[in-house]
Amino acid sequence: AKEKGRNTYEVYTHSFDLLASELLDLENRLHRALERGEFMLAYQPKVNIKTGEIKGMEALVRWNHPELGLVSPAKFIPIAEETGLIMPIGEWVLKTACGQNQAWIESGLSAIPVAVNLSVRQFRQPDLVQKVAQVLEETGLDSQYLILEITETAAMLDVDFTRKLLRELEQMGVNIALDDFGTGYSSLSYLKQFPLHTLKIDRSFVKDLTEEPADIAIARAVIALGHGLDLNVVAEGVETQEQLDCLRMLDCEEIQGYFFSRPLSSEDATHLLQRMRLQ
Ligand code: C2E
Ligand code: CA
Ligand code: CA
Ligand code: CA
Repeated sequence: AKEKGRNTYEVYTHSFDLLASELLDLENRLHRALERGEFMLAYQPKVNIKTGEIKGMEALVRWNHPELGLVSPAKFIPIAEETGLIMPIGEWVLKTACGQNQAWIESGLSAIPVAVNLSVRQFRQPDLVQKVAQVLEETGLDSQYLILEITETAAMLDVDFTRKLLRELEQMGVNIALDDFGTGYSSLSYLKQFPLHTLKIDRSFVKDLTEEPADIAIARAVIALGHGLDLNVVAEGVETQEQLDCLRMLDCEEIQGYFFSRPLSSEDATHLLQRMRLQ
């Protein structure tokens, strides 16, 4: 076991050394991207399964790289997280999403919340509550129109911390969604102690919903759990009519996914809100 431990350590330092220069390079690029305004937000609607109404918009960050084009957050968020650049990037995301939603509300297009993703590090920053309050004040957005999405994994790292923080956010009137639910390691008894608004069923369970009886069982259990705790349940990554039908049968209230809409530029999201209003 000792031998194995040493080997592991060596591999770790080696790959860390290799990564250091790459990390620095990417860190510099991300830093410049922030200064040059290369980040943008895409908005993906959350839709009521029964009425087809848009019930919310999730803001998803993209890096519009001059040569590479749109870079997925799955690629750069982990690096931003590791280098700490997630703080200024995350603040930009929060400000931009709140500002956009306030603009939609003022033009009569929206009375729905915008959802913003928080990484682990953002969630654990000591002045998160003040930062959120400040952004709401600056943009003029009422707290009821903001949802913060935190992953199940982040929430379970330190449940006492999470409970305290979520209660402070709740007192401000900001709603919380537990993201990627089912992929982490939840102690279910803690769920009832967190003031949550929404459970989001992870896409991995929705993907094979129509072929995998086990995934139907999981989805059914998560939906029942959510309802038992008086939470809104959203299924992520709905791509097909069959998945939609299955989720409807399971009594899930909201869906998000390519079946209804891909994440949209702010212009296209505005057009969608206009069309929905005219219907
Ligand atoms: P997430 O929060 O679970 O977001 C859902 C992801 O699934 C998004 O990927 C979305 O574009 C994608 N998606 C939505 N519907 C479908 C579908 O029907 N099929 C498939 N195959 N995919 C679908 P995206 O935008 O690439 O974001 C990936 C992850 O990056 C997000 O996962 C979230 O964890 C993180 N992320 C995105 N934006 C931000 C941000 O502003 N801040 C932080 N901290 N993390 C972010
Ligand atoms: Ca999310
Ligand atoms: Ca997910
Ligand atoms: Ca409720």
